[in-house]
Amino acid sequence: MRILVLGSGAREHALILALRSEDADHAIFAAPGNAGIAADAHLVPLDPSDPVAVTEFAGTESIGLVIVGPEAPLIAGVADALRTRGIPVFGPGKAAAQLEGSKAFAKRVMDAAGVPTGRAIRAHTLAEVADALDELGAPHVVKADGLAAGKGVLVTDDRAAALAHAETYLTGAPVLVEEFLSGPEVSLFFLSDGDSVLPLSPAQDYKRLRDGDAGPNTGGMGAYSPLPWLSERFGGEEEFVDLVTRDIARPVIRQLDEEGTPFIGLLYAGLILTDEGVKVIEFNARFGDPETQVVLPRLVDPLSELLLAAASGHLEDRPRPAFAEATAVTVVLASEGYPEAPVTGRTLSGLEEAGAVDGVHLAHAATVRDGAHLVASGGRVLSVVGLGTTFHEARTRAYDAIGRIGLEGAQYRTDIADRVLEA
Ligand code: AMP
Repeated sequence: MRILVLGSGAREHALILALRSEDADHAIFAAPGNAGIAADAHLVPLDPSDPVAVTEFAGTESIGLVIVGPEAPLIAGVADALRTRGIPVFGPGKAAAQLEGSKAFAKRVMDAAGVPTGRAIRAHTLAEVADALDELGAPHVVKADGLAAGKGVLVTDDRAAALAHAETYLTGAPVLVEEFLSGPEVSLFFLSDGDSVLPLSPAQDYKRLRDGDAGPNTGGMGAYSPLPWLSERFGGEEEFVDLVTRDIARPVIRQLDEEGTPFIGLLYAGLILTDEGVKVIEFNARFGDPETQVVLPRLVDPLSELLLAAASGHLEDRPRPAFAEATAVTVVLASEGYPEAPVTGRTLSGLEEAGAVDGVHLAHAATVRDGAHLVASGGRVLSVVGLGTTFHEARTRAYDAIGRIGLEGAQYRTDIADRVLEA
């Protein structure tokens, strides 16, 4: 198959590695990709958020499936443009992608669909923010109402900090003040063809920068899958997945369909397992990063078949995707200064040695080639993925590998998947 993947992160590299491993003969194109993806796909120097450029390329190259990695092309209407041209695309149109693009839209859809979520108040002024903080109480949760790459959210006990955060995002747009939800977080992905829904395997990601969930929120610093501890509370992973499919994913997909904005693509449910039940903290309209790096290596079914079935409205007859028992742990290597002000342009070393560790592969994000070297070109530089038969094995492999990588000032968490080992 001729496949075009839009995006340039570790998530896109993980998607491409999954496509490669199912069939070495796929012709895979990545726009724009990165220096690591260059080894596994043809790089295409086009703007993934430009509907005209993407559609022209896909038409000229007879692309049979476009997979949209990040949210920006979705919000820019790239999937709509491809669909209008009859090109199969895995990713929702602009209207349905508002589920991620606007937290207010997502809350309205959840209310209409009867999906459990925390209370939220939209505030247009600092005075309204102050009232909302008082009404909902501490800990305070303040969110920007647009795309902020996971960085627009502040959770704090400090009322003054909550107000200051709100002020930075109150630039003509409202902010959301939310009820704090307490409990473990789970990310669960669903494939949707606009009508039918198929769940993937759950993962847990680490949003905070530093060990022990300290420091600021980031795009994600690590993840693991599966989640053995779900059994204690739900009887097993399958029971948990059934519950979320029934009570959350299906009602939301049905609601969007009824509103005339069918969701074709990846519904990412960010969940908190509260004492009162499973609640949604957010939806995303695309694969999560870094969760994709630990979910896809465990997927047994061919990824391209699943995504093409979703893109062309044929999920209904397919069985649930199967996952290997294997465990996966990923650790993100980030540049000094991430997330506020990443230092870029520094040389990376030891990547070959890291990739040579048994059961380890690298998914590149912000890497560019500079002669014989690779240099870091952004905040999250790459994901090291360790696979194993036990969490201990997967985790040991990932940390053995990341220890071999040289990058001045690099940051990474040293406690990814610790909680599974302790359980
Ligand atoms: P979001 O971008 O909405 O996923 O938020 C980023 C992170 O902030 C989440 O993964 C949670 O760790 C935290 N968070 C967001 N909303 C809430 C909430 N209502 N209660 C508790 N934590 C939250």
